[in-house]
Amino acid sequence: MDIELARAWVRGIDAAVERERERLGELDAAVGDGDHGENLRRGFSSAVEAVEAMDPDSVGAVLTKTGTTLVSRVGGASGPLYGSAFRAAGKRLAAERVEPEDVGAALSAALEEVRRLGGAQTGDKTMVDALAPAVDAFLKAVDSGGGLSEAARAAADAAEEGARATEPLQARKGRASYLGERSIGHLDPGAVSTALVLRALAEAAAQ
Ligand code: ADP
Ligand code: MG
Ligand code: MG
Repeated sequence: MDIELARAWVRGIDAAVERERERLGELDAAVGDGDHGENLRRGFSSAVEAVEAMDPDSVGAVLTKTGTTLVSRVGGASGPLYGSAFRAAGKRLAAERVEPEDVGAALSAALEEVRRLGGAQTGDKTMVDALAPAVDAFLKAVDSGGGLSEAARAAADAAEEGARATEPLQARKGRASYLGERSIGHLDPGAVSTALVLRALAEAAAQ
């Protein structure tokens, strides 16, 4: 991954979030306050502006700037969680060009940070349910010799499956947990958006 690919990833997330804004809002309206699509749209469109305006010296600088922008522009749970995840990933990628192994370590660091900040485990019906299997799949693909594009595709597939698997779960973290059993039968919006983030990486890497 190089600096241009990192930027293309952020642009791809922005495009996906713009396209899916309404759906993310509807998913969040069912289990939360309905702002997830709008939160992410505001955050990633600001992040695109910020990374286009800067002259980054590393892949990590692009991701760190994205994270900082998300933290400052997005309220609620997802801003700090996504923002800190991107910052944690950015910290691991201090070079103009990084290898798939480095990206794997960065994704692991992002997951670690989300778990640390939010305290959610897999099965709590949060973005962790998509991110954890995605990181596993990415690392496994790299381990067996896969390149970035292949590993990112495996991660995106695993994230989508993880997001689908949130439907029958009862939420144990975040706003949706206030619903108790009534959170059952709905997808977790943050898990769905996490799958969009990883699919955008796979698409950028495939170019
Ligand atoms: P808010 O709930 O503050 O309105 P958003 O709607 O933008 O924020 O984001 C909600 C998403 O954030 C949830 O669908 C879930 O995936 C994620 N989330 C909430 N709390 C946590 C947590 N403690 N750990 C991990 N993810 C969380
Ligand atoms: Mg919300
Ligand atoms: Mg909110």
